[in-house]
Amino acid sequence: YIVLGIETSCDDTGTAIIDKKGNLFAETLLSQNVIHLRYGGVNPLIARDLHRDNIERAVNETVMKAKLQFQDIDAIAVTVKPGLLFSLQIGVKYAKYLSKIYHKPLIPIHHMEAHALVARMYNNIDFPFLALLISGGHCLLTCVRGTDDFLLLGDTLDNAPGEVLDKVARRMKLRNIPDYSQLPGGRAVELAAENAKTFEVFEFPLPLHKQRDCNFSFSGLKDAFSRHLYKKESEHNIKGDEIIPEVNELCASFQYAVAKHIVHRAERALKFCILRNYIPVDNSTLVVSGGVASNNFIFKCLQCMGNAMKCNVLRPPPKLCTDNGIMIAWNGIEKINSGYPSTDMELIDIDPIAPLGVNVKDEVRY
Ligand code: ATP
Ligand code: FE
Repeated sequence: YIVLGIETSCDDTGTAIIDKKGNLFAETLLSQNVIHLRYGGVNPLIARDLHRDNIERAVNETVMKAKLQFQDIDAIAVTVKPGLLFSLQIGVKYAKYLSKIYHKPLIPIHHMEAHALVARMYNNIDFPFLALLISGGHCLLTCVRGTDDFLLLGDTLDNAPGEVLDKVARRMKLRNIPDYSQLPGGRAVELAAENAKTFEVFEFPLPLHKQRDCNFSFSGLKDAFSRHLYKKESEHNIKGDEIIPEVNELCASFQYAVAKHIVHRAERALKFCILRNYIPVDNSTLVVSGGVASNNFIFKCLQCMGNAMKCNVLRPPPKLCTDNGIMIAWNGIEKINSGYPSTDMELIDIDPIAPLGVNVKDEVRY
C-alpha cells in the first residue's frame, strides 16, 4: 500500500507519500511561517490564499520526487479536522478532486491524532501509550489505545505553551538579538535560557496545583511574567529596543516554570492511567510531540519524571513534531492496517473544532 498525505489545517501546506511499512518516498512542506510572522500570528485569509497557490505544486512535487504516477497511489489521506476552516477546505477540496479523477479512496484524518500516532512510524511503540501534545495551538494529554481509540485526559483551559513562549520571546525583544532573530519564539527562549547563570531569578506559582485533574493553564504564568518584567524594566530604566541585562535568567526562569507545570500534569496523567489499567505499570510509553516537544530542556524534565516511573519518554524527530504531510500519510497507513472501511466522499466533513477522542477529563482524579 502507498498513501499520499495532505495537510493544510493551519499555515503549512504539507504533502508526503509513504508505504505500509512507513518508508518515506518523498515529502514537500511549503511553510507560510515567514509571511505570518509579519502579522504577529496566522492570518486565516492569507493562509487560505497561500494554500490555494501552493496545494497543486505541493502534491505534484511529492509525486514527482517519489518517481511515481498518480495511478501508483492506493489512497489519499487528508486532514479534515481540527484547524482553520478556510485552510482545511483547500486541502480537502483538492483531495476530493484527486480522489475523483484517479478513483482513489479518501481517508479523513484528525490532525491531533496524526501528531500522536506519527511516533509509531520510527519507534516500536505498542498501544496503549500516553501522548502529550504541546504546540503553538494545543496542549493536551491523551491515552492512545488504538488507531481510532483515544481518551482525552486533559487539555488547556486558556493558552498553549508555544503561544506563551512566543509572547515571552516578543516581550523580551529576542528578535533584536541577531542569533535569535530568525527563530521561533520558543526556540529563542530555549537558547537564551542555556546561557543563564540560574533559572531561579523569579519563582512562578505552579498553575492548577490544587486541581486533581490533568488540565493545563498557562495564562497565569504569562501574566506573572509580564508583571515581573515590567517591574524589572522600570528598575533598570529600560527603554525602546533595549534589552534587559538578566534576559537569559528571565527566559530560564519562565521556561523552568512551563516545564514544571507540564511535567506535573503529565505525571498525574501517567499515574491515573496506571491506576485505571489504561497503560501498563512497567514499560509504559509517553510520546511527546508538537513544536514545543523540540525543547530539549522541557523534554529532559519529562524524561527525568518518566525514568522515576519506569516510563519510556520518546519524541518523534523534530521535523515530525511540527505540522507536516508525513504524519497524515502515516495515519492513513495506520487506518488501512487496522482495517478502516472506505469512506463515502459525501460523508467527509470538515470540522474546525473537533475535540480529540472520548472526553474523560472529568474522571481524572488522582
Ligand atoms: P498546532 O500544531 O497546535 O496547530 P502550531 O502550528 O503553532 O500549532 P507547531 O508548528 O507544532 O504548532 O509549533 C510551533 C510552536 O512551537 C511555536 O509556538 C514555537 O515557538 C514553538 N517552538 C518551536 N521550537 C521550540 C523550542 N525549541 N522550544 C519551545 N518551543 C518551541
Ligand atoms: Fe499541528
